[in-house]
Amino acid sequence: MQSRWVDRDASATVDRYAAAGIAPELALRVYSARLLGSDRNLVLHGGGNASLKTRMRDLAGEEVDVICVKATGADMATIEPGGMPAVRLEALRRLRALDRLADEDMARVQRAYLLDPAAPTPSLELLLHAFLPHRFVDHTHANAVLSLVDQPDAQALCAEVYGSRVGFVPYVRPGLGLAQAAARVFDADPAVEGLILDKHGLFTFGDSARQAYERMIDLVDRAETRLHRNRKAVFASVRLPQQAAPLAAVAPILRGACARKAADGAHWRMVLEFRTSDAILNFVNGEDLARYAAAGVVTPDHVIRTKPWPLIVPAPEAGRLDDFKRAVAAAVAAFIERYTAYFARNDARAGSGRSMSDPLPRVLLVPGLGLFGLGRSARDARLAADLAEAAVATITDAEAIGRFQPISDADMFDCEYWPIERAKLGAEAEAPLAGQVALITGAGGAIGAATARAFARAGAEVALLDVDVAAATAQAKAVGGAALAVPCDVTDGRAVEQAFAQVVAAFGGLDIVVSNAGAAWQGRIGEVDEAILRRSFELNFFGHQRVAQAAVKVMLAQDLGGCLLFNVSKQAVNPGPNFGPYGLPKAATLFLVRQYALDYGRDGIRSNGVNADRVRSGLLTDDFIRERASARGITEQEYMSGNLLGREVTAEDVAQAFLHQALELKTTGDITTVDGGNIAAALR
Ligand SMILES: [Zn+2]
Repeated sequence: MQSRWVDRDASATVDRYAAAGIAPELALRVYSARLLGSDRNLVLHGGGNASLKTRMRDLAGEEVDVICVKATGADMATIEPGGMPAVRLEALRRLRALDRLADEDMARVQRAYLLDPAAPTPSLELLLHAFLPHRFVDHTHANAVLSLVDQPDAQALCAEVYGSRVGFVPYVRPGLGLAQAAARVFDADPAVEGLILDKHGLFTFGDSARQAYERMIDLVDRAETRLHRNRKAVFASVRLPQQAAPLAAVAPILRGACARKAADGAHWRMVLEFRTSDAILNFVNGEDLARYAAAGVVTPDHVIRTKPWPLIVPAPEAGRLDDFKRAVAAAVAAFIERYTAYFARNDARAGSGRSMSDPLPRVLLVPGLGLFGLGRSARDARLAADLAEAAVATITDAEAIGRFQPISDADMFDCEYWPIERAKLGAEAEAPLAGQVALITGAGGAIGAATARAFARAGAEVALLDVDVAAATAQAKAVGGAALAVPCDVTDGRAVEQAFAQVVAAFGGLDIVVSNAGAAWQGRIGEVDEAILRRSFELNFFGHQRVAQAAVKVMLAQDLGGCLLFNVSKQAVNPGPNFGPYGLPKAATLFLVRQYALDYGRDGIRSNGVNADRVRSGLLTDDFIRERASARGITEQEYMSGNLLGREVTAEDVAQAFLHQALELKTTGDITTVDGGNIAAALR
């Protein structure tokens, strides 16, 4: 590992922040924190922290000693000065004399001495930073150092690698106890450049940002050098099936097994993020996987995101997915049992009264295939996958030079159920479609795009399919988050299959499909060219059928029910003159809605449709509206609101109807009319 400090960049950062009144040393603090945060081998997702001791004016205008320390959960890679709240240093240092600090009081300490009461909450490692004398203190969970300290003989190994350059702090859960222990080790030899925290990570410090940073890089570099020496070959591989089952077939089975029944007809679901690489395959294919992979977390703050251990399932074999599904169900049941026992045992030990979090895994290891991160959103799934990848690297290196041995079950529990750690997960109410995946066809158009936005706002991860991939990409960008754009021509069976495989690979499965793609053809039915009629059927009927069929296949593999939504049309029940080529396949699609409701109700799959009319879109362009309005001698406004309510129907109105249908767990076979009122098109 090499220093990435560049003097020119450092002074540019100082200059840039000077304009905003930020002192040079805080600017340099931000600069080096970002250098650390942007290296995935050092810091991941809110892990690690950094601080600066300086002087600032309080509200009375008095200059006081403060420590600016990274806010809890803030990302070091993109940290700003505002993400390093200033805390009165003397007040924190007096806490070193306490015998103990209750959990509730630790949470108070984090905010009690803030210079600005509106500032974000400082890292819970702030006491450790405060008790050290140096102006700049850096902390990371560097993979290479974790490979050294997650060993039975960690202290001897660190002495071999670092000599007296660092102090060794035995494992203590973060908080006052760890801060006191670290300060004691430092006081015993103030010449050290850093502190190694057993089973946790390392601290370095210095008088300048550069000194603290470069000590960090140097210590990590030495660990990396050690990991390259005297390596054992890891890992011997198990025998794998001749042909592995494809990801698109495996993921829905795993996703279904890692969900739970919630309300009648509802499930609590997660999103999956898949990862594979040579390093991951080498790890998951290892003969001894159950020992080294399920021993525990590589550093304590992973445990709230990954749970204490991953779920390991057998290698999925092509053509034998039923066996795989049974084996996965058994593995999940065993995981739940192990987790429940772990909770009960440790809850009793630590004084009972906690409530158990869901007992489902957050990381899945699949021999022959790779690993999955799981979470209630694509973001959380990605986070879990990133931490799992870091664990793969750390454990592989630990095993190559010795034997991986992390903190104990009890220590993991104390971190997992520490209220201060749990607070990082956020307590805000979840959106109604959290954990669900929605696929929308024709999502580059007005109604499809509005539907994608509405579903994303309701908490779903969305995949936007369109034959016009540029349009889908632009709309996915507008949705933001993990929204995925996928090219798909629904008149092409192979294209539909590939698009669904891509969505399943991205999110692990799917729950809601809005079959919306369509186009209008006109012609007097007695004279229309049969080719036109067939083209319209290909898109406006068979397109829906292909999409629904592909959806049902995934939904049945998941065993979580599902929701099919079709954009039908008022034409299906109330034909317009010369609109037969459009209305006829739409009438068939209306019956398709009912056929799916009938055939798949027992599988918990609901099937509903929306009959919309006169919505500005690719089918009903502004030019067309102008033309029709002037032909009738009325204004465009009058034309668009020519319905019983006298209100123009918008794409957003249609999107809301789809959303309501997705949330109506006891409704299937329904057609909702969104046309402002048209008795001739009324269904009942
Ligand atoms: Zn830490």
